[in-house]
Amino acid sequence: MTMLLRRSLCLIAAFLISSAGLGQERTASLLLEAESFEQHGGWSLDTQFIRQMGSPYLIAHGLGKPVADATANVTFTETGTYHVFVRTKDWVARWKADGQPGKFQLLVDGSPLKETFGTKGAEWNWQDGGTVEIKSKSVTVALHDLTGFDGRCDAIVFTKGTTPPPDSNDILPAWRRNMLGLKETPTLKSGCKLFCDATGHGTLGSLAGADWTMTDKGRMGMSNMWAWDEGNKSVEFPKTPWALDLSMADFPYPVDHHGQWFWESGFDKDAIGDAEGIRDWNLRAVFGAFNAMKNRDGADKHKTAFLTWIAFIGGPRESRQLLGDYVLNQDDIVTKKEFTDGCVPSTWSIDLHYPKKQYAEKFPDNPFISIAEHDRRIDRDYGYPVPYRCFYSRNIENMFMAGRCISVTHEALGTVRVMKTCGMMGEVVGKAASVCINHDCPPSAVYDRYWSEMDKLLQLPGKAFRLKPTDSMTIPNDSLPLASSYGPPTGLDPANLLGVVIDNRQAKSVGSWTSGTGLNGYVAYDYVYAPADSAATITYEWKADKDMKVEIRLAFQSHENRGKSVPITIAIGTARKEVRVNMKEKAAIDNTFVSLGTFSVKAGDTISIIQSTEKAGGIVHSDAIQILPAP
Ligand SMILES: Cc1cc2nc3c(=O)[nH]c(=O)nc-3n(C[C@H](O)[C@H](O)[C@H](O)COP(=O)(O)OP(=O)(O)OC[C@H]3O[C@@H](n4cnc5c(N)ncnc54)[C@H](O)[C@@H]3O)c2cc1C
Repeated sequence: MTMLLRRSLCLIAAFLISSAGLGQERTASLLLEAESFEQHGGWSLDTQFIRQMGSPYLIAHGLGKPVADATANVTFTETGTYHVFVRTKDWVARWKADGQPGKFQLLVDGSPLKETFGTKGAEWNWQDGGTVEIKSKSVTVALHDLTGFDGRCDAIVFTKGTTPPPDSNDILPAWRRNMLGLKETPTLKSGCKLFCDATGHGTLGSLAGADWTMTDKGRMGMSNMWAWDEGNKSVEFPKTPWALDLSMADFPYPVDHHGQWFWESGFDKDAIGDAEGIRDWNLRAVFGAFNAMKNRDGADKHKTAFLTWIAFIGGPRESRQLLGDYVLNQDDIVTKKEFTDGCVPSTWSIDLHYPKKQYAEKFPDNPFISIAEHDRRIDRDYGYPVPYRCFYSRNIENMFMAGRCISVTHEALGTVRVMKTCGMMGEVVGKAASVCINHDCPPSAVYDRYWSEMDKLLQLPGKAFRLKPTDSMTIPNDSLPLASSYGPPTGLDPANLLGVVIDNRQAKSVGSWTSGTGLNGYVAYDYVYAPADSAATITYEWKADKDMKVEIRLAFQSHENRGKSVPITIAIGTARKEVRVNMKEKAAIDNTFVSLGTFSVKAGDTISIIQSTEKAGGIVHSDAIQILPAP
């Protein structure tokens, strides 16, 4: 007996005679995928854990208020008595928590089945819904939420047999495909030669057999941030006996109505295999905290408080690192190890998260509040350039990677994982892919053989484009000029000043100079200062390329604590001239420069301008030297 399926196009369901899944019976069965319901109502689509539990599913994330029904119109080809199975779980059962927050009903043509779903099983399972009489071939099926506390439904099976569908992960995917009439291997429509894993978890790489690693324990965790507000009338919030058992002292008060990034857990849990469990633990923490605010020792102060948002999509920070030809580590970053292929500047500190001790004692198995510890030895102005070799797999020839799954250690991930840095990785990978296409080569060859070509692409302004890798590059007129190695100047741009400008960052300093940017009018990125008689010196050098007369100017920012008599020596060959500058007074030229005099130089002469602190009479300030042709 063969039955024809007549269903609306968007609803993935299958009606067939299954001999593979439902035992060995040859019975009529209908599989409804919850995510394919025509109307999701108030239910949300959760796609985060497909690889772990096998499917997207619908979740009733109503912040404690039951959400509107999800509905599907279903056409049966036979009326009669059907056994119903619903794939769901009691999402707090794994912790043996009190109560079942995720309860929902299945309505068939508006009538609920006797069974309440979301009430059995710590793992995803086919909850037995008993039988239903299908009297008409065309019926409406609805998921009816009873709590608003994250009940979830993956799929529903109507069968004229009695055996439940398979639960085992070994059989379930094949059974599902069979029921839905899908091929075992999906057809790849693209003829792609190159791939980029930007999945965060390194999913593509792990499926392709790429080498990867994952920090065993003490990883950074997953966050589910949340928000609340206050109205002008008292509102109830249901008690949550199944949530974490929290009082007000057990969590940081959500100031500004915001549960921030540090609502984070899963440090020692399986970041991929148990990602749903980590997310659910976070939900239990948030609901437990809000329960304390509404129903426990915080109740008096939060009568009108209500939840406005809880992210049901977790924000994972750390899982697989796919291994490339180089694995960047903390030492590389803090010692500023130079790489010819350094290309994506990371300017965030090495920011690693740990459980915050104060809140960790009550739930030592999985603390839910974190603290960030920053190693600030990273150059946050210029950034640390991450090598290109971290962006392609060392053993999958045609795979790039970008984002947090790149080839770095746990510590190095602490800085590279931020959004703009990850975004730049995408740009670099895109440029490298164009080199691969033009030379029909793998990503590794871009480094090994075509780096000079790649480097030229990296030097182009961001607006440069070409429609195909073989086209020549168009550089629009309004492209921004390239930033220097320190990024765009934060002070006066030396490129806009006359003559030659030598900034303090190009000078040789001896002793202890402190960088500052607090006084406006400085040249380039900063100025430096040192106390009087501290033996500190700073030397600016310039080599003349022809015989000429030059005026030499010094840039500094005046202040009452400055030296009245700062010694400056101008040395040309063996000739020397000492000038004293009163830095308490404003610099005469544009409040920034003073003239140190005019000097005759010959081609090849090196001029040294040495600023010292000896008997300066106050703090010595040094910013830049300007050399101008003199009449
Ligand atoms: C709570 C929190 C706060 C943060 N705050 C900041 C901040 O203030 N500033 C900052 O710069 N950074 C911040 N970060 C860090 C930063 O947001 C992340 O590290 C960064 O977004 C990682 O980018 P990614 O592209 O590698 O991964 P993701 O942003 O996770 O993107 C991966 C994408 O791939 C998709 N995907 C996964 N698998 C598949 C698949 N099989 N098929 C198709 N698609 C798939 C996912 O759905 C996802 O959209 C924060 C992170 C968290 C968790």
